[in-house]
Amino acid sequence: MNHHSRIQALLDKLSSSYAGLKGILVSEPHHVRYLTGFTGDSSYLLLTSQQRIILSDRRYEEQLAQECSGFELAIRGPEKLMPQLCQETLLGCGYQQIGVEEDHLSAGFLRRLRETMAKAQVELVSTVGLVESLRACKDEQEISILRRAVEIAEMAFEQTLAEVQPDWSELQVAWRLEHHVRNLEGEGLGFPAIVASGPGAALPHYQTCRRKIGDHPLLLVDWGAKYEGYTSDLTRTVWLNTPGEEMQRVFDIVQEAHDTAIAAIRPGVSFEEVDRAARLVIERAGYGTHFNHGLGHGIGLQIHEYPRMAANQKGLLEVGMVVTVEPGIYLPGIGGVRIEDDCLVQGNGCDVLSRLPLITHPNCAHPGHVSR
Ligand code: ZN
Ligand code: ZN
Repeated sequence: MNHHSRIQALLDKLSSSYAGLKGILVSEPHHVRYLTGFTGDSSYLLLTSQQRIILSDRRYEEQLAQECSGFELAIRGPEKLMPQLCQETLLGCGYQQIGVEEDHLSAGFLRRLRETMAKAQVELVSTVGLVESLRACKDEQEISILRRAVEIAEMAFEQTLAEVQPDWSELQVAWRLEHHVRNLEGEGLGFPAIVASGPGAALPHYQTCRRKIGDHPLLLVDWGAKYEGYTSDLTRTVWLNTPGEEMQRVFDIVQEAHDTAIAAIRPGVSFEEVDRAARLVIERAGYGTHFNHGLGHGIGLQIHEYPRMAANQKGLLEVGMVVTVEPGIYLPGIGGVRIEDDCLVQGNGCDVLSRLPLITHPNCAHPGHVSR
């Protein structure tokens, strides 16, 4: 992985977006990882056209030596806190203007740093969204990692479905999913799995609990596997028994919205347009107010990354973006249906990385990945 070309791309973007600005303090941990390969936390990165300095503490000295060759290190001992190390390093770099990631520093930290720097005639310039936009388009290595993260999630799901019993609680299903993900050499779930049965499925971010899954015909599962730091994100609504007529209709509408959105994805189409394509299907069927979240989001080192596919998001899809498509219809007190897949934007459309069938039943293991 070429971290130095990513750094150069960031410095170029910094200079062109902020009137020739030549240095930036990167403080968001996923950004630091993306730019350096460092897998620890509590560390910042100071980049200028001359310097590449990682600011960290002694716990990480050895790990940094192993993971981050080609970087200078500024290491603090326990007697010094990060704000002081930042002040010293920023002053030492000799620039009159340094960018900071305003969205990723606390207001208090930024105010104090700004005050101290001002005394030394150094101006801190707030930057927004620079590394986020670089991270949105994945390179070949990131794409192959994400493909594996999707595969692990799918295999874990199939293995879990093959063994679930009606007397299992939602929490037990979530635990089996995590067990299988780790058994397949995933680093764990990408986020706490949402396992929602019956009326629980009407809450998009439901809190999985002790409810027995066999008490209701539908089971919604939203999960992802973490692999080499990257996270997949999938949702399937499983039919444990034949659902009522309305839920079957709702399922068909969500499926149509999902397929319509995927057909709309291609480079150059705006995020809001893809959201609109799915939303129109649901609105025309009379359930517009029951689809109460955006259509999807980028995935990568974080579960929710730029871009957001939602209303008023004017940005355009680009080759290499990996986004979720996850329309849903939620009926309070009754239940809900969501279907979520991960799509790689490419060529004249997209490659759907996930291969699980949309309609799934328990205890009928699918032989390998079934293509739709
Ligand atoms: Zn999800
Ligand atoms: Zn999602």
